[in-house]
Amino acid sequence: MSVRTVPEPYLALDDEVLDSRIRAAKEELGSSTVILGHHYQRDDVIAHADVTGDSFKLARLGAARTDATYIVFCGVHFMAESADILRAPRQTVVLPDLNAGCSMADMAPTEDVLLAGETLDRLGVRTVPVTYMNSTAELKAFCGDRGGAVCTSSNAKAIFEWAFQREPKIFFFPDEHLGRNTGLALGIPLASMVVWDPAKESGGLTREDLERARVILWKGCCSVHTKFQLRHVEERRREDPGVRILVHPEVPYEVVQAADEVGSTEHIIHVLEKAPAGSRWAVGTEYHLVNRLARRHADKKISILSKDFCLCATMYRISPQNLLWALENLLEGNVVNAIRVPENVKRGARVALDRMLQVG
Ligand code: SF4
Repeated sequence: MSVRTVPEPYLALDDEVLDSRIRAAKEELGSSTVILGHHYQRDDVIAHADVTGDSFKLARLGAARTDATYIVFCGVHFMAESADILRAPRQTVVLPDLNAGCSMADMAPTEDVLLAGETLDRLGVRTVPVTYMNSTAELKAFCGDRGGAVCTSSNAKAIFEWAFQREPKIFFFPDEHLGRNTGLALGIPLASMVVWDPAKESGGLTREDLERARVILWKGCCSVHTKFQLRHVEERRREDPGVRILVHPEVPYEVVQAADEVGSTEHIIHVLEKAPAGSRWAVGTEYHLVNRLARRHADKKISILSKDFCLCATMYRISPQNLLWALENLLEGNVVNAIRVPENVKRGARVALDRMLQVG
């Protein structure tokens, strides 16, 4: 196996050639290879996905395809790690571009979170650690090893309730906004949620701050979803008082409070599917998904909440060029950019994921 970047000749191929060569490679690989496409993926890549979904759904679907030796994950690094944690022993996960990271996951480096955990221990602050799916495998293992769990944007509320049955406080990372929105949905006042800033001594928090806190939120965010602001909701309502505002829980809490509905990517897709013809929606999530939903439901008026360019730039790194390169290498028996989570990390991460699944 090797780690390489796409060679020059692939970069010079035009769209039609790329499309037909990807189709040909897929056909030849047959059931030995499954291509997973995250909802935020660009259109010219999602066109080749065998299945689409959010990160956890895709990781499980990849593992369930036991006939497939290769799982080509068109998403970002933490997603491919989750697929590697859940995969069957004979499967290999490939990420077509290893530089496809996640700005949110990068805001919680393992050593910083470990240091925060040690500091909380030293101060005698007892917490259950909960990490969002959008984090490194190492942080999932940290939660698994310390009695905590993983959550998704769909089940964060249930996982928080589970955690509060164990300890009076939750240490949540890496998304400050999802943590705050989940806490508010459970009736926890804003004043009882404090932000741990890893750039500051003891997270910038005093002992009193930590004592009154119910939720300690990591200072991290999604570079896409934080672009949605309250002023966008106000503008859209001014333009069209009948518009419905539908947002993802990674947006800031002021936006969630002003919206009509909030929910995970899968929830957003479901709401728009069920919405009546003629209804009008301003949607606060990634650009490619919103545009696809607008095309799929042409009988409804669907647009992105903000006119700013809310695109996941790291996801965009997965291109037809590097997808083709990965597939053609598989045809020649070469596995490029395989994702391998170390066994000791995998064990702890699996524990945290299993706890999440038990809660539901
Ligand atoms: S949309 Fe945000 S959280 Fe999702 S992969 Fe991109 S940067 Fe990460």
